[in-house]
Amino acid sequence: MSVGIRYDWQQSEIRAIYDAPFLELVYRAASVHRQYHDPKQIQVCKLISIKTGACPEDCGYCAQSSRYKTEVKPEALLDKDTVVGIARQAKVSGVSRVCMGAAWREVRDNSQFDQVLDMVKEVTSLGLEVCCTLGMLNQNQAERLEAAGLYAYNHNLDTSQEYYSTIITTRTYDDRLNTINNVRQTNVTVCSGGILGLGETAEDRVSMLHTLSNLHPHPESVPINILSKVKGTPLENQEDVPVWDVIRMIATARIIMPASDVRLSAGRAKLSQVEQALCFLVGANSIFSSDDGHMLTVTTPCPEYDADQQMMSLLGLEPRAPFVKQDLVKDKALV
Ligand code: SAM
Ligand code: SF4
Repeated sequence: MSVGIRYDWQQSEIRAIYDAPFLELVYRAASVHRQYHDPKQIQVCKLISIKTGACPEDCGYCAQSSRYKTEVKPEALLDKDTVVGIARQAKVSGVSRVCMGAAWREVRDNSQFDQVLDMVKEVTSLGLEVCCTLGMLNQNQAERLEAAGLYAYNHNLDTSQEYYSTIITTRTYDDRLNTINNVRQTNVTVCSGGILGLGETAEDRVSMLHTLSNLHPHPESVPINILSKVKGTPLENQEDVPVWDVIRMIATARIIMPASDVRLSAGRAKLSQVEQALCFLVGANSIFSSDDGHMLTVTTPCPEYDADQQMMSLLGLEPRAPFVKQDLVKDKALV
């Protein structure tokens, strides 16, 4: 059965997919995955925290919020040479996408933003896809990032509209959607997903997927994070997310947004290789890997390049080259 791309998914339809008998869901998601993607290929990404800590926002999960006492020590903006050095090293290790994250509420038109634009130019010139996650931005700022060569902008919805204010009070869901819309006015691709384990219900997860899958076009990239419980944050004592829920979430995202990359992101370090293999089978086609055992800050563990290369060869997977997806999508006129 061939599945086209739809932007009119009803929440009840998504819920039915999420709740389907487990092996039915696995089979359906794996079939859709093969229709739109080369199942041997996984994109390996590297996150670089270019500006760590002291963020004024109150996101209840985040080690970088200035409101919570966590292990994270605030740092100034990294200089360009440091960032380019990490990116170069990542490229040799099979990474094709580098994501630069800043603990900012929003982008300001100042010299720090000029420095970030410079980093984007230089890392892009290494032949890597560059993604930035810098908080809220307006359309002009999105255009400046586009002019610098930015490939993707990450801005996660994190959870459902209904549950959002339980987790974050310093901005609204509409603020989030506005930034995504500002990025959409440019040729920069959109990366937006969420976190499992914030205390949300299955309906909240489905509601978030409903919002994402009704965006037209879909976000090209959908990260699925599992909460890294950070000591000192309001969510430090949340219950673990059953791996079954992680697989259901990835499978559902794959079925309703078939051409998007689904990224198995934070929390992967907690999963066994067998569990990760199931995630890849149902459509996850990207991982974050690191040189130092953490993803963004010291509070988020992340498997290292060598361990991931070993797992990928065990599973017969290969790292995807940069910009391949763009060409594939154009060739097949999928969007
Ligand atoms: N300040 C920017 C923003 O919020 O958009 C960018 C940086 S923020 C660290 C990027 C994303 O990381 C968040 O949207 C969230 O989804 C994810 N994240 C942060 N802390 C996390 C945690 N403890 N566990 C899982 N995901 C987390
Ligand atoms: Fe700041 Fe982003 Fe962390 Fe929220 S998720 S506290 S905006 S760094």
